[in-house]
Amino acid sequence: MSDLASNLDKLASILDRYRNTGLSNLIDGKSCPSVTGRTFETASPVDESVICSVARSNDADIDAAAKAAKGAFPAWRDTPAADRQAILHRIADAIVDRAEEIALCECWDTGQALRFMSKAALRGADNFRFFGDRALSARDGQMLPSPTLMNVTTRVPIGPVGIITPWNTPFMLSTWKIAPALAAGCTIVHKPAEFSPLTAHLLAEIAHDAGLPAGVWNLVNGYGEEAGKALTEHPDIKAIAFVGESKTGSMIMAQGAPTLKRVHFELGGKNPVVVFDDANLDRALDAAIFMIYSLNGERCTSSSRLLIQETVADAFEARLIERVNKIRVGHPLDSTTEIGPLIHKVHFEKVTSYFDTARREGATIAAGGSRHGDKGWFVNPTLFTDASNDMAIAQEEIFGPVLTMIRFSDEEDALAKANDTPYGLTGYIWTNDVTRAMRFSHQLEAGMIWVNSENVRHLPTPFGGVKASGIGRDGGDWSFDFYMEQKHIGFATGQHKIPRLGA
Ligand code: NAD
Repeated sequence: MSDLASNLDKLASILDRYRNTGLSNLIDGKSCPSVTGRTFETASPVDESVICSVARSNDADIDAAAKAAKGAFPAWRDTPAADRQAILHRIADAIVDRAEEIALCECWDTGQALRFMSKAALRGADNFRFFGDRALSARDGQMLPSPTLMNVTTRVPIGPVGIITPWNTPFMLSTWKIAPALAAGCTIVHKPAEFSPLTAHLLAEIAHDAGLPAGVWNLVNGYGEEAGKALTEHPDIKAIAFVGESKTGSMIMAQGAPTLKRVHFELGGKNPVVVFDDANLDRALDAAIFMIYSLNGERCTSSSRLLIQETVADAFEARLIERVNKIRVGHPLDSTTEIGPLIHKVHFEKVTSYFDTARREGATIAAGGSRHGDKGWFVNPTLFTDASNDMAIAQEEIFGPVLTMIRFSDEEDALAKANDTPYGLTGYIWTNDVTRAMRFSHQLEAGMIWVNSENVRHLPTPFGGVKASGIGRDGGDWSFDFYMEQKHIGFATGQHKIPRLGA
């Protein structure tokens, strides 16, 4: 049996569990349908077939979940850090045990290739272990004495938080937000993307089985404009951690304003990979291809703009075209596949509309630029050349396997083009001149920069964007800055004179 056939077999037996029951919500430790009983269907981008029904929740479901999270908060906040650490480790262990099941579901629900999703599931386990271990020191404070006061600081969890996640690598991204929130002592209401609810369900199931007390982790499915909006507006929810599009972030900020929500946003990007002529061009080529065509290009940190120095551009372009044409598009559960289908029809139409945009703007479609097959939302990996930085294909986030190549003359020109977008998530610089690398990375407007490397995530480092790419940082201790409040307590030494009014 080919590995595709055997993976499809395994998937069928996993999905059998949900075919009749559908995906419910998890509120206060209980599995429940939406209050109205309404559902929607989730479909696979591979063949457009319906996977199962999903609870379509509204403000009443969110209210029940927020109340459960509020009720569970004091006990979870006061649970010893070592106990929270132990539970987070149990969740990590269960993710490892069920990694294959998670990866198969993720691929079928999102169209991502198995070769990447197997690793993404395990990265989810790493997130729980990493933040679980940090639970022990999350509340440590400082001693900041002054002549008359012994000042101390401590950190306390902010309260119940809302976590809203997108459909791209949804399992890993959910763990990336939920693990630090739980480690800090917050309780959560998670609203996963309507297009990829399967693995959020598995994750909540795992957490429940790991012995998490009822109400600590609540899962509410539904549409963004219904359940998502209600979550951002709920007065018991103290903060919203959101990953998604920049324009949704802006809506959430407005929706959360009346209740003064703290927000953390991981948003879109149009990230440059800047290749100078003195770079190791073989490695630069591998990294540029990997960073845009892996994960179907549905990746916030993708290097969707290639800025290449004119002196080496022709040769680099020829090698790029050859390689892009060889990328294997296919069934996501086939282990040889490098690109699977895009998430859904509307997104497919958005991505493919840029093929016409590129033609209209006068760029060349040097590879791809077409649908792949006639079923499912597959596109051929695409390369636009002869592009300038002011074109829509260079400014807007396409969020698919589509690379726009732009030439530059010198460092000054490269920097001006690199910074000339509304976004500022990541940047990738390829040069063997270390002084230039330092100068350029200092001036590049991005939250994360890699020099002579693709994006290699290291959990203790800060992750986040500037400009339209985000607000706040995750990773290391930065995550706790969001999920916790700093508290100052001053103990008087009795040595200062207290002003006496009315004496
Ligand atoms: P999206 O903004 O459409 O949806 C994200 C989530 O927000 C979904 O759960 C959706 O239901 C919800 N939502 C939509 N409208 C809402 C509203 N009015 N109120 C509350 N919630 C609402 O994003 P998407 O299309 O699912 O994801 C792709 C986007 O995410 C891309 O722009 C990508 O760059 C970005 N992203 C960023 C990062 C990062 O780390 N910066 C990581 C992954 C994805």
